[in-house]
Amino acid sequence: MTDALVIGGGPAGLMAAEMLADAGHSVLVADAKPTMGRKLLMAGKSGLNLTKNQEYELFMSAYGDARQWLEPMLEAFNPSDVQDWAEGLGQKVFTGSSGRVFPEAMKASPLLRAWLGRLQGKNVRFQTGWRWQGFNAKEALFDTPDGPESVAPKATVLALGGASWARLGSDGRWADILTGLGVELAPFKSANMGFLVEWSGHMAPHFGVPVKPVRLSFGKQSVYGEFVISKKGVEGGAIYTLSSALRDGMGEDGVEMLVDLLPDLPMPALAAKLRRERGKLSLGNFLRKTVGITGAKAALFNEHEPARKVDNPFDLAGMLKRLPVRLKAPRPMDEAISTAGGVMQNALNEGLMLKAHSGVFCAGEMLDWEAPTGGYLLNGCLATGRQAGIAAADYIREIKL
Ligand SMILES: Cc1cc2nc3c(=O)[nH]c(=O)nc-3n(C[C@H](O)[C@H](O)[C@H](O)COP(=O)(O)OP(=O)(O)OC[C@H]3O[C@@H](n4cnc5c(N)ncnc54)[C@H](O)[C@@H]3O)c2cc1C
Repeated sequence: MTDALVIGGGPAGLMAAEMLADAGHSVLVADAKPTMGRKLLMAGKSGLNLTKNQEYELFMSAYGDARQWLEPMLEAFNPSDVQDWAEGLGQKVFTGSSGRVFPEAMKASPLLRAWLGRLQGKNVRFQTGWRWQGFNAKEALFDTPDGPESVAPKATVLALGGASWARLGSDGRWADILTGLGVELAPFKSANMGFLVEWSGHMAPHFGVPVKPVRLSFGKQSVYGEFVISKKGVEGGAIYTLSSALRDGMGEDGVEMLVDLLPDLPMPALAAKLRRERGKLSLGNFLRKTVGITGAKAALFNEHEPARKVDNPFDLAGMLKRLPVRLKAPRPMDEAISTAGGVMQNALNEGLMLKAHSGVFCAGEMLDWEAPTGGYLLNGCLATGRQAGIAAADYIREIKL
């Protein structure tokens, strides 16, 4: 018999489990995979960006439409709390460029190991290989390596993740179960993903190469940074930041993103440089000598046929500042860093309990919110996990009274 059941052993579930254990409840964490926190470990491969140190308004606005919903939870577990939490697990943190916060170890395994150890010390029990299949009244039903199991807790926290990187556990299959239970879900959409571009053969030498600095724009949004040209298209930081706008702007023939290849050079200064006599220089050599367009940037420029034909300095400057790149479609959802969609705010009360199922709480990426990369995702998962755990603990206390 356990007071609380947490299904999903990612950052949101583990945080909920800790809150429940701290409130004095017995907790079982069950996960379908053979080990806990697989996606967290994967996030560690790129350094584990835990949160972002930046001005309050900028931080909160990263959560877009979900800001109002998440803000109280993010205030209660804010970037400084995330840093204290990581340090409490023996992981010194540092703030890198643009405020991104990382553990000094630049990976997740020591943090996850310490966290699981601390939870075990608080009598949290773990079951791996347990795949949740749904409820039978108050009983949670599992397929396990030893056959079917059921658990009848006083409260359950679902922290089942989004719908990308299925091999790490977050396969989104829980959506059918919750829909069957009458829970309102927003359809999954890729978030923080790359896009398909049909490159010509000339681009092959530049696959894997970062293009920087650039300013990418679409509609009213623009972002300064870098991206990577890949065999199948484009990916990387600046693309991910713009990805939700690009995704929502997709038409049948894709979407056109504009690339400023020389974001640090204002248009008049650039046009002045390009007014120089070209003589016998090819356009490529002229751009290399006058404004340093080489390598992947030169290849991108050449990839756009009309760009190769302009010779008026002002038009040329315009093309370098607003080079169109056609993105055909988002890369498949399973490759996305995260997903939007999931359990809608309407389906939950303020404590993240399902209105349709009292005693069942939801947290983490399975909720209908999205944010860019930059530590916002983990901060959001930890904050909602904390909220669900505290609310579930209160719920158990109240039913005991
Ligand atoms: C390559 C990559 C890099 C990333 N880097 C960063 C980063 O640097 N910073 C950042 O903020 N975010 C990053 N993220 C995103 C971040 O890892 C996720 O947003 C976060 O792990 C989501 O946490 P969660 O607890 O909600 O879900 P998850 O971590 O996905 O955990 C969900 C768990 O639920 C389990 N589960 C699912 N269905 C069932 C079921 N039916 N029964 C039992 N168990 C089930 C899964 O096995 C899984 O363990 C990255 C993601 C990827 C893929």
